[in-house]
Amino acid sequence: MNAQELIQKHKLLECIQCGMCTGSCPVARKANLNIRRYMREVAIGGKATVHPENELWSCTTCATCELRCPKELSPYSFLLDIRSIAVEEGKIATTLRDALESIFKNGNPWGRIRGKRSEWAEGLNVKHVSQGTEILYFVGCTAAYDPRVQEVSRSLVKCFETAGVDFGILGEEESCCGSEVYGMGEKGLFEYVVEENMKLFNKYNIKRIVTSCPHGFHSFKNRYGEINFEVQHHTQLLASLIDDGKLKLSKELNKTIIYHDPCYLGKQNNIYDEPRRILENIPGVKLVEFDRSRERSLCCEGGGGRMWIDIPGERLAEIRVKDAVEAEAEIIATACPFCLLTIEDAVKTTGHEEKIQVMDITEILSQTI
Ligand code: SF4
Ligand code: SF4
Repeated sequence: MNAQELIQKHKLLECIQCGMCTGSCPVARKANLNIRRYMREVAIGGKATVHPENELWSCTTCATCELRCPKELSPYSFLLDIRSIAVEEGKIATTLRDALESIFKNGNPWGRIRGKRSEWAEGLNVKHVSQGTEILYFVGCTAAYDPRVQEVSRSLVKCFETAGVDFGILGEEESCCGSEVYGMGEKGLFEYVVEENMKLFNKYNIKRIVTSCPHGFHSFKNRYGEINFEVQHHTQLLASLIDDGKLKLSKELNKTIIYHDPCYLGKQNNIYDEPRRILENIPGVKLVEFDRSRERSLCCEGGGGRMWIDIPGERLAEIRVKDAVEAEAEIIATACPFCLLTIEDAVKTTGHEEKIQVMDITEILSQTI
């Protein structure tokens, strides 16, 4: 893509250089990422430049810049096109390249073999969607392979069973949703992933998908083009099961919980209420809020390929943990595998293991039903 195409696609000449995007960007200072300047360089200079690795790959695709822009531009979408140019020129960190290669070869970015994709469900009574289930539970790569996040998948199964949800999985046939491929700017691979996944969904006549990962949810809902199925994040389905009286929360949990909004659920898809409604329904729970919550929420730094590239400097997840401890929360609840892993890691690096724990909403729910 050349400069003229970028100018047209991203309406760069409409930018008034107000700086709201860079001013609101959570990694701007840490990574020296000045998205306003990047856009100006192309609009005025007429040349698309690939920027230093630590700047270009620092964007987490949190969408804050898009939300703040008074001209309704999408600065980070522009950045993803600059990433695409970098990918085409082979200017990409080895760790990111390995993740992309693994998605192509094994259907997941974690370098794991396909044959182990459904190991998390061993011992559980989980059907394959080919048995004609009403809902496909799309597990996602991290919840399928990461031992910590597998606990979320198992908790969700418990919630589904308790509520009598008729669901199935794709097992070893499931492949990456492509969200992070898109975020890394590998457009060719993203198109391939979409095509393969759509073939599989059509093969099993899938009409309804539930994901436990906001990145998969966003990808299917907003990046796959025309889709012939309904897609929900697990917090949406669980909130409606509670509303309908199908999921009864009978046990008390006397804890102070703070909810961290995952960017791909909140800022990208405006889902703020359902996760809070679930937590508020648990007897004994006191729900508190971060100063920066909902659309002002601070990103955990897990999106946009950032799980596979480390950018030096204080991690935003560490700030999140300190803020939660200050708010006297005992549990940080979230609803995204990347948030769970980055924030849990930050609890350890900030030395707060004794004070606070990090849990997915499904794990909290499964303890109270
Ligand atoms: S917020 Fe929008 S208008 Fe302002 S500098 Fe950024 S892209 Fe331009
Ligand atoms: S998406 Fe988030 S991290 Fe990326 S440029 Fe925009 S505000 Fe910064």
